[in-house]
Amino acid sequence: MLARAQALEAEGREIIHLEIGQPDVPTFENVAQAGIQAIREGRTRYNPPAGVPALRAAIAEDAGQRRGIDVSPSQVVVGPGAKPALFFPTLALVRPGDEVIYPDPGFPTYAAMIGVAGGVPVPVPLREENDFAFDLAIFDDVVSDRTRMIILNSPSNPTGGVLSPPVLEHIADAAQQHDLWVLSDEIYARLTFDGLPAPSIATLPGMRERTVICDGFSKTYAMTGWRLGFGIMPESLAERVGLLLTHSIGCTATFTQHAGLEALTGPQEPVEAVVAEYQRRRDVLVAGLNGIPGVRCRVPQGAFYTFPNVSAFGRTSDWMASHLLEEAGVAVLPGTAFGAGGEGHLRLCFANSMKNIQAALERMAATLAKLNTV
Ligand code: PMP
Repeated sequence: MLARAQALEAEGREIIHLEIGQPDVPTFENVAQAGIQAIREGRTRYNPPAGVPALRAAIAEDAGQRRGIDVSPSQVVVGPGAKPALFFPTLALVRPGDEVIYPDPGFPTYAAMIGVAGGVPVPVPLREENDFAFDLAIFDDVVSDRTRMIILNSPSNPTGGVLSPPVLEHIADAAQQHDLWVLSDEIYARLTFDGLPAPSIATLPGMRERTVICDGFSKTYAMTGWRLGFGIMPESLAERVGLLLTHSIGCTATFTQHAGLEALTGPQEPVEAVVAEYQRRRDVLVAGLNGIPGVRCRVPQGAFYTFPNVSAFGRTSDWMASHLLEEAGVAVLPGTAFGAGGEGHLRLCFANSMKNIQAALERMAATLAKLNTV
């Protein structure tokens, strides 16, 4: 969609980009300066594969305290972005033929990494009316002793949904009954709204020893291009994942990790200010979308995405996204970019200026007014 939008821009069209999923603010100044300073000080050599010890200790402290669990530095594995904390634990745990349950719609990396590990992908649809949690009836049908791992993502990309304690308890019970691992992608955990946190399944009794938490710096500290993330997992698994890191990436950039240390230990007000701003933009976007006849949009509780339902127009998500790009000059993603379960939806990112969000709403309203609903 970005490539098509850029092709239209090359023809002189002006496009509003709501398809890209990253903060629109620059990396916070104190964090950027810490990275620059680290380069100046010559922190440009190899460091241990699992990460700089001071950063692992700071992550253990911060991530543990925010979730209310004890985490030791030996359970923390640092990587270039959060993706390695999804991919390498999956490679370490999933054997050929093992089934892995994951959300549909969900972040496309899940299905890809299950496939690379030789696992059998088992998508479970999300229920819009239940804040985009798993359809628990289908979940109960497919979870079995053949399941090796369940992937959760709360707050979710693409839906913005946050999993509630009863849903987490249901999944935790199944995980213990069938002796499964849970890979909990919590990369948006700090981006939640209305003062409501996104609880982690790792805090439930009996879950720490079977949960891998994936988190990182990309979204919280606007560091997508620095490449810094981490996994928290039982120590024995952390050792195996450390070996995979040793022989694949070697180590994560040393100066990037020093910037990450400043991000965690420095002032947190910039994060809070950005989240408050995202919430204002969310409110404008959701109200605007719900004001367009034929569009129905739930209020996302986290991340920076809305996932409106546009099925009333009787067209595929793909058609709707193309139509909005060509006719309205607004780039959005079709829900099906995140799996078949995203049909009938579009993903719009509100990490964009209020001016662009308002202009996009006006253009979309004008374009959609010309379509019939079924
Ligand atoms: N998980 C989810 C749900 C994401 O949306 C993203 C980034 N789009 C990632 C993981 C990967 O984050 P990173 O860029 O830090 O690897």
